[in-house]
Amino acid sequence: MERKTPVLYIVIPCYNEQEVLPLTAPQFLSKLQDLTAAGKIAPESRVLFVNDGSRDDTWAIIQSLAAQDEHYAGICQSRNRGHQNAVLAGLMEAKDRCDITISIDCDGQDDINAMDAMVDAYLDGCEVVYGVRSSRQTDTFFKRFTAESFYKLLNAMGAEVVFNHADYRLLSSRVLQEFANFKEVNLFLRGMVPLVGFKSTSVAYERHGRLAGKSHYPLSRMLTLAFDGITSLSVRPIRYITGFGVLVALVSFAGVIWAVVQALLGNTVSGWASTTSIVCFVSGVQLVCLGVIGEYIGKIYMETKARPRYIISERTPNMPKPEEKEP
Ligand code: UDP
Ligand code: MG
Repeated sequence: MERKTPVLYIVIPCYNEQEVLPLTAPQFLSKLQDLTAAGKIAPESRVLFVNDGSRDDTWAIIQSLAAQDEHYAGICQSRNRGHQNAVLAGLMEAKDRCDITISIDCDGQDDINAMDAMVDAYLDGCEVVYGVRSSRQTDTFFKRFTAESFYKLLNAMGAEVVFNHADYRLLSSRVLQEFANFKEVNLFLRGMVPLVGFKSTSVAYERHGRLAGKSHYPLSRMLTLAFDGITSLSVRPIRYITGFGVLVALVSFAGVIWAVVQALLGNTVSGWASTTSIVCFVSGVQLVCLGVIGEYIGKIYMETKARPRYIISERTPNMPKPEEKEP
């Protein structure tokens, strides 16, 4: 399928990235220029930074980049809302201004050279192109183990995600128009994108170490993200609880019969330890189950409030107007 040369917006969330941004910003720009020179993307393409309420000089750096070169543009969130919301803000801003977006982190970890293959796949007719890590050589054993367990756990719990794919992906504005109708407040983008459908493919890339600065995703935040992902996308944990409840009930029933038979036979002994253990075990199980169900109720509570998922407080002056996009 022949497509017209697309306008590309590279969407980059940034939170306290003053150390790494001056290093990676020129790399994104030169990638944009290379792709333009190769005739794969239109010259109106942009590098779009989303400042996620940084407390350091990140926004000042973005503003000065935008003043230097019109291919840099930036939007600023009114406060820190987290990576997923920052990416969403950027994608929603971009969707009426471009034909395709590529979301990528600003720390240089994801190989920007994979963008060529992503754009090629779009030109071949794909609407979604997932960046998939080919290896995790540079990650520590611990990071690799926890990250890979993360994907396995998500899939086991019914949240379908592409293995080893994070948030480095190409989305066409066609897909983003549909994606805008997914109104949920609890965001887990990598699980939501496959639900939109459309023709998709993957591109493998090498994941490097961070160029500068430090990660915002320690193990605790990864666990939160995994739990959020599961409970946002799937009710399988509740179903497992039901199954487990049935199992415990059956075992208890057998226990009751056994106890009655023992009592009739006159074998009753003062079983304080066993009684206490059972009470403790079952109440522990019940609390865990209540917690999981409570988590879903919490999600429903947040969804019913339907608060805005992002608030843009500022845009760089060179940000094109949505209606300026050519038909
Ligand atoms: N980030 C963000 N808001 C946050 C935390 C992180 O926009 O609250 C951005 C951050 O600037 C980076 C990306 O999300 O571009 C990924 O974060 P990081 O590199 O710290 O995570 P890791 O790669 O270690 O998983
Ligand atoms: Mg990173």
